[in-house]
Parts: sequence; C-alpha cells; structure tokens
Amino acid sequence: MATDLKAATRKVVSTNPATGAVLAEIESATDAAVEQAVSRARAAQPKWAALGVSKRIAVLRKFQGRLHQHKTEVGQLITREAGKPYVEALLTEVMVVLDASRFLIEHARRFLRDQQVPHGNLAMKVKAGKILREPHGVIGIVSPWNYPFSIPAVEALSALVTGNAVVLKPSEFTTLVAQELESLLHVAGVPPEVFQVLPGDGATGAALLQSPIDKLVFTGSVPTGKKIAQAAATRMLPVLLELGGKDPMLVLEDADVDVASSAAVWGAFVNAGQACLSVERCYVHHSLYQKFLTACVAKAAKLRVGDGMDGETDVGPMIHERQLRIVEAQVEEAREMGARLLAGGMRLTELGPNFYAPTVLADATHAMRVMREETFGPVLPVAAFSSEEEAIQLANDSEFGLAASVWTRDTERGEALARRIVAGTVMINDAITCFGISEAPHGGVKASGIGRAHGHLGLEEMVRVKYLDIDRLPRLKKVWWYGYGEAFTRQMEAFVDLQFTRSWGTRWRVLKTAAGAARRKL
Ligand code: NAD
Repeated sequence: MATDLKAATRKVVSTNPATGAVLAEIESATDAAVEQAVSRARAAQPKWAALGVSKRIAVLRKFQGRLHQHKTEVGQLITREAGKPYVEALLTEVMVVLDASRFLIEHARRFLRDQQVPHGNLAMKVKAGKILREPHGVIGIVSPWNYPFSIPAVEALSALVTGNAVVLKPSEFTTLVAQELESLLHVAGVPPEVFQVLPGDGATGAALLQSPIDKLVFTGSVPTGKKIAQAAATRMLPVLLELGGKDPMLVLEDADVDVASSAAVWGAFVNAGQACLSVERCYVHHSLYQKFLTACVAKAAKLRVGDGMDGETDVGPMIHERQLRIVEAQVEEAREMGARLLAGGMRLTELGPNFYAPTVLADATHAMRVMREETFGPVLPVAAFSSEEEAIQLANDSEFGLAASVWTRDTERGEALARRIVAGTVMINDAITCFGISEAPHGGVKASGIGRAHGHLGLEEMVRVKYLDIDRLPRLKKVWWYGYGEAFTRQMEAFVDLQFTRSWGTRWRVLKTAAGAARRKL
C-alpha cells in the first residue's frame, strides 16, 4: 500500500534535451492503474476483434490521413522531446509510420485470411487443414526514447490491425510523443480502451510485465531485455525483444571512398548516434584506410551541431547527461589504449547541456569498449583490415547481431560476405535505412533480441496461430484407432512401405496388404 502511495505521486519529467527546459511533468501510472488499464483493454478487445479487418483498416486509413495532415506538428514535437533534427523526425519517424500504415492497409486483409494447408501424407488426405491467425488479446508494448514515435507506432498499428488491444508504456523521456500517438489513434476511431498509454519509468514497465497481458513487445537495451525475458519465462509470457546493436560497417578495397565515407559519417552520427542500427564500428581495407579517414574527418568537421529545431542543424543533442557520460568514458578509454582521436572527443557545453561533438577515432581495437559495447553516441571508431577473412572475423566478434553493412562495387562479392555475417539484417552499400522498408523484417540475433518487427514477420508476432483440422469423413472411424494385433501391424508396415519405399515393385506388392486396413472392424 505504502509503495503504491509513493507511486501515486511519482512523476515523469519531459525535458527538451537541447535546452534542458522542462516541457511537462506527468504523473506515472500506479501499479493499480496498470492493472485497471489492462482489464479495460481486455474487456474492450473482443468487440474490436469482432469489428473485422476491413473496418480496422478503415480506422488505420483515417489515422494515416490525419498523421499526414499533422506531420509538421508531430515532427516538431519529436524534435522538442527527443532532440533529433526536425528533418530526421520527419523522415525516420513520421514517414516510417505513414509507410508502415500503407503496408498494413495493403496486406493485413490477406494476412488474416484463413490459410489452407494441403496434406501430403496419404492417411491425412481425408482431412482439410487450415491455419487461423487470431489476436493474442492484450499486447503490452514497452518502448525506448530514441525513436519515440516510429517504434511504438509501428508495433501498435500491427497489433491493432490484427485485432489486439494495446497498452503502451513509453520511455519516461518521451511521454508527450506517445500521448500524441494516442490522440491520433483515438481521433481516427480506435476506442480509448483499445489503445492506452501509461506514463512511467522502468517500474511502470515492470508492473505492465506483471499484469495479465497476453504478450509483451519490448524495445530497449540488452540489460533490460534480459530482465524482461527472465520475468516472462516464469509465466510463459510470449515476448518480442528488440534490443541493442553494435553494427559493423565493412569497407572493401573496391568501395567508392567518397560514398562510403559519407555513409559512415551519416550512419554514425544520425540521431546523434542514438540509433540501434547506427554504424557503431567501421572496418576499412588497409589500402583505403588513410584516404577513408581523411574523408571522414573532413566531412565530420562540416557537420553543424545544434538545436534540432534549427533547419540548418545536422546533429542534435544527446538525450541526457547519463548517456553523454557513457560516450565520454568509452572515448577516453579508447584514447588511453592507443586509439587516435581525429575529430571531436568533447562536450559542446556552449550549445546546451547534452551536446557532444561528432567524433572520429582511428586504430580502434577489440580490446576497447568502444568496439565491443554499445556506444549510442556520435562516435565513429575505425580500424583497418587486410583480408576478407579478417573482416568477417572482426564483424562476427561481438555479442550483438542486429545489423551490418558491406561496401563494395561488386555486389555479388558483397552478397557472399553478407551471408557469412551473423546478423538480423545485412545491407550492401547502405546502412540503417532498412528500418524504413516496411516490408523488411527488423530484428536481431544473439544478444540483439528475439523475434521480428515490421513486415509480414512483424505481423506474425501479433497473432496466435491456430491449426484447424476438419475431417471430411465424419462417419468413418480411423483405421489407426484401437484394435491392434499382428494383422494390423503387418498392414501398417505395408502402409509405411507404400508411402516411403523408393521401389515401385515393392509399392505394388504391399498395396493389397495396406488396403486391408480399410476393411478393419473396430
Ligand atoms: P532501456 O532498456 O533503458 O528502456 C527501454 C524501456 O524499458 C523504457 O520504456 C524503460 O522505462 C523500460 N524499462 C526499464 N526497466 C524496465 C523493467 N525492469 N521492466 C520493464 N520495463 C523497463 O532502453 P532505452 O535507453 O530507452 O533505449 C535505448 C536502447 O534501446 C539501446 O540499447 C538501443 O539499441 C535499443 N533499441 C533497440 C531497437 C531495436 O529495434 N532493436 C530500437 C531502438 C532502440
């Protein structure tokens, strides 16, 4: 009771990371409020599911139209609360959600259609089989701050269109953006109980995990993901885990240095490096190494760091001071261990509380945390390699496996290498943008998570599969039911041979014995 009283007065503070100004103080949901929200969602979900996919698609269409109409306000709110330049908010958040809506509008109906399953086994040919895809019920979503709109929105839209109710616990740093999503969905026609936002921090997320939800969709760090997986295992709660990454970029000797260096700079510094798919480590063939570093340093020097509301800004602030300290510590350690600092490597306090200069480090090694742990800041650590084998070995030498990129003019060679990289996605001659391909599955292997968001595989996460078997001869007892004996055993041996022997002669010989089973009296 005392804990709940304390929770009742707990607040999350929304802050503009560029200025430090407080945007809002919002009361956190108490444990009791979490329980109530989930039971409201549970009560409302059957009606939402019964509405049918066509009507849900119509709601989605309205949502898409309204979001398009309000793209500027939504983008600016994202910039104010999460810091990224407005144009990034527009392209990597608003446009991603508009296009994900397009994908769901086009595909959800067919996805939810019953799927016929023809049977190959002779004994099962008298049965009609189909796969049904049914909603889980209430899906809990716990989301991070770095893509505060596109991550929860794509997950929520996929859950809603398949007939689920959703309870979203957004990051404590970006509650206002989540509330904007809530308002857009409600105005479009999603009933208030079918999509609810519960403000709060990790404790509220933990309460949602403990509540009677039917599935949890989590996006966030590996340590939190591990806690969630453990808690979920105790009650067999299905979870989708979209976790961190340490994505490698491999620049082969035939790559275009100008293109690859621009990609490295954008890939490492977009959203101030706070993207799960960021270029977090870069390996360059030794023949291009110096040229590549020189190009990256020149391009990093041209980047304009500042408030994302300023149209001329390339790189915005980091989300908070704690994240800045992680970046500083990794860069310092790398320098002490022999990495060369070629650009950045310092806070830009004159700009505001959370700015860090785009940083290029050369001669980074795997002994350094900057090459092993997620940095999640504007840092591009670069190392040289001599052979393809070495490049693959370095790329795979990581506990993470979210995504990777390979840069080469020879796309066949790039594809051959991509197949050897252990990751959920490998891009050839591009990085990060796979997140904006609504048809592409997004997710990682190893510590980067379990399951996939986006595309058809993302829709599969939002449904329970039920296999429906309809026997076409309801008045016939099955031959394999009781009444075993020597004769039946011989008949069944003949039946197995009939199906699986390679010899047509044997098939012909056993046919009569096998057919005898059909005349059994049970
Ligand atoms: P985080 O793990 O600190 O928090 C994520 C969410 O979990 C927040 O809403 C937080 O309040 C909540 N939370 C914290 N503790 C919890 C607990 N014990 N139980 C339930 N919920 C809890 O991560 P973050 O700092 O918000 O986000 C950055 C991380 O997210 C990075 O590691 C990044 O790589 C990862 N990320 C992954 C993807 C992906 O698609 N794979 C996308 C974006 C971000």
